[in-house]
Amino acid sequence: MKKILMITTGGTIASRHTANGLAPMISAREMLEYVPEINNFCIPDTLEVFKVDSTNITPDHWLRLASAIEEHYEQYDGFVICHGTDTMAYTAAILSYLIQNSPKPIVITGAQRPIDLINTDAKSNLTDSFLYASSPQSCGVQIVFNGEVILGTRAKKTHSKSYNAFSSINYPHLAVIQEGRIIRYIPQEPADHPTFYHSLNSNVSILKLIPGMSCGVLSYMLEHSDAVILESYGLGGLPASPDYPFREELANWVGRNKTIVMTTQVPNEGSHMRIYQVGQTAKEEFKLLEAYDMTVESVVCKLMWILAQTTDPAQVQKMFYQPIAQDLLFLSADY
Ligand code: ASP
Repeated sequence: MKKILMITTGGTIASRHTANGLAPMISAREMLEYVPEINNFCIPDTLEVFKVDSTNITPDHWLRLASAIEEHYEQYDGFVICHGTDTMAYTAAILSYLIQNSPKPIVITGAQRPIDLINTDAKSNLTDSFLYASSPQSCGVQIVFNGEVILGTRAKKTHSKSYNAFSSINYPHLAVIQEGRIIRYIPQEPADHPTFYHSLNSNVSILKLIPGMSCGVLSYMLEHSDAVILESYGLGGLPASPDYPFREELANWVGRNKTIVMTTQVPNEGSHMRIYQVGQTAKEEFKLLEAYDMTVESVVCKLMWILAQTTDPAQVQKMFYQPIAQDLLFLSADY
């Protein structure tokens, strides 16, 4: 039987009611007691790395999580990470960059309701995660939630209350799990050995455009960040009227080692800046990078990973457009 390490980090799945609302308190060992059936198909072990509501997650937590997996990589056949759902998509993305080509499965899961409640989704999510992590065909980083398996670079939290908290963005589900059976849609090719990375540059910010906004906040972000992500509209464009001095502001920063990426507020189908004048002119003039079909979570995490290695614009561009863990499929010919 496969040896699976369950790494706990807190989240609703491990929470109990307190006078001030839910807070993570349940130990890893206690959690396993709720899913005794997993002992029929794997040998579970536990490791508590921290116990936080995932609202509190920082890049430092991500590095600790990745190094916990690296330290235990040889002793186990797979990993199940229990995590709060609020920032789980970011954690799934960052682990996809920090641990590349893992031949062993790294499964992230959690729940919308604590494991000690009667109507919890925690027990089925946990059981499915152990099942997926124990399967010889599983590898790489993914979220297992509500019977669905979502690639780590493609997840987004799209429901704040329902059991189907996550969607797979611009990519099919890898598999579904029904009544203890894994039905695979996209077989994953296991690599020979993993590559672990050990640093992140968290000096990345994001600006969501709203009609009529002032650009003072853009100036501030450009001054204080190594990378700014502009979350614009539709296929991705930059306002070009005298009322919005965005373009004048961006012109000040061209050639000053700032990475500026255009993405879209539209959750599905991604950007394509060449289509409209508001996009094409901005991309050329200000040397913007473009997210295409990447999720915003993956763009944020990929930049943190790249900028820890280089800030040279040509290198940053090359690495940004290099697909990793199927994060980027639609690379337009115009790039
Ligand atoms: N606030 C919780 C967290 O992200 C929500 C959850 O786990 O579902 O830790």
